[in-house]
Amino acid sequence: DADGIIQWANRAELELTGYRRDEYVGRHIADVHADAATIADILARLARGEALQDYPARLRRKDGSLRHVVISSNARWTNGAFSHTRCVTRDVTDQRRADEAMTRLAAIVDSTDDAVIGKTLDGMITSWNLAAERLYGYSAAEAIGQPITLIVPPERRDELADIMARLRRGERIAHHETERVRRDGRRVEVSLSISPIRDATGTIIGASKIARDITERRAAEQRRQAFLEMLAHDLRSPLTAVRGYAQLMQRRQAFNQRATEAIIAEASRMGRLVADVLEMARLDAARLELRRAEVDLVALARRCAEQSSLLAHHEREVRVDAPDESIIGAWDADRLAQVVTNLIDNALKYAPDGPIVVRLERQPNQACLAVSDQGPGIAPAEQERIFERFGRAAEATASGMGLGLYISRALVDAHGGRLWVDSLPGHGSTFSLALPYALPGDAADAPSLDAKVDRQT
Ligand code: ADP
Repeated sequence: DADGIIQWANRAELELTGYRRDEYVGRHIADVHADAATIADILARLARGEALQDYPARLRRKDGSLRHVVISSNARWTNGAFSHTRCVTRDVTDQRRADEAMTRLAAIVDSTDDAVIGKTLDGMITSWNLAAERLYGYSAAEAIGQPITLIVPPERRDELADIMARLRRGERIAHHETERVRRDGRRVEVSLSISPIRDATGTIIGASKIARDITERRAAEQRRQAFLEMLAHDLRSPLTAVRGYAQLMQRRQAFNQRATEAIIAEASRMGRLVADVLEMARLDAARLELRRAEVDLVALARRCAEQSSLLAHHEREVRVDAPDESIIGAWDADRLAQVVTNLIDNALKYAPDGPIVVRLERQPNQACLAVSDQGPGIAPAEQERIFERFGRAAEATASGMGLGLYISRALVDAHGGRLWVDSLPGHGSTFSLALPYALPGDAADAPSLDAKVDRQT
């Protein structure tokens, strides 16, 4: 009535609210509403003569549980006076829950990195998530309604027929590795998992397909394979040489100076190779720790230059161009020697002719070291790639694993420094390294090394 007192209710309303008729009739309608503001608004609208259509509200049942409902209602007026309202209440709780579950599922599907695609048994695309847009380059609007052959390369159409046949038999296809075509025509390697979708009666009505881009994984596998082959190859040639020289001395039953030197040189090469592999494993596991101590970069560079030129196949001069005084910093001497040796060895390896110069300079906040050669240089497009793991220039003229610069840069980074290359193809390369004297955060001007590091050199 006009005061909100319930006058009459049918069985459905009683079932919905959980009250007996005698408990329900005579109660104020606000008692069964969970939200006071909502029922106040409903009553105010009805009093103003408005009709409500599917007005959303929440009822509190007798047992305390909540139901989501929509209410359609209008008021009856007698002789211009509000007499009573009629109220049709529909329970939409299950539908709401289903909608919420749908929304949540849709959000999951949309936020996954895997492409999730729905299709009918005739191969028509019915759904297409965001990752599918990214992977294949078609928007959902472009893809939905199209045949799945949109993304299947022509030579793989037979495979598709086979997949559809298996789905119709209710089979699930797990981790099927294959190739698809993107909108721009590029191929992409994917791993597919496809499952039949059944309706409520169990009839197969379509399929859901999850596609994961495995291009990167495949490339990593190939790189790993290539790395192992190269490692085996690079270890075998010095080993063969060592064995050859040793056998030579054995046959002659005599000490041979040249053979001994060659054995030492080859063993050093192998040692460096193994050290690189170890260092890479440490870098990958983020277990690199610097052992900083007071180091003179000038002396270190001279030692590296001398050793590398001695060990080079055809002894070549490596000139060190340095100021007279020393350049001291708190660095990891072994690691720095590894970096400098790598740069000099690369110059010896890739620049067969011309002088090699190691230039050192003392700057206010950092020490600089540059290794220049007059070799073939490095194309601009390759200049960043060569610092990547296994990164080698397309025209690399000597064998190698592509690890040296990757490790060197990581070691220089760990020192808070920078390593880069300047090169003009045809005019040689200069690899430069800038090293702050001490750890960032230390007193900027005069690093008091003695307090921080144990003296080793
Ligand atoms: P590796 O020498 O084992 O290939 P690096 O990481 O030391 O590995 O070098 C990566 C690549 O950089 C080399 O394969 C080569 O293509 C290029 N590179 C390095 N140093 C030079 C140089 N001085 N001149 C020309 N190319 C170079």
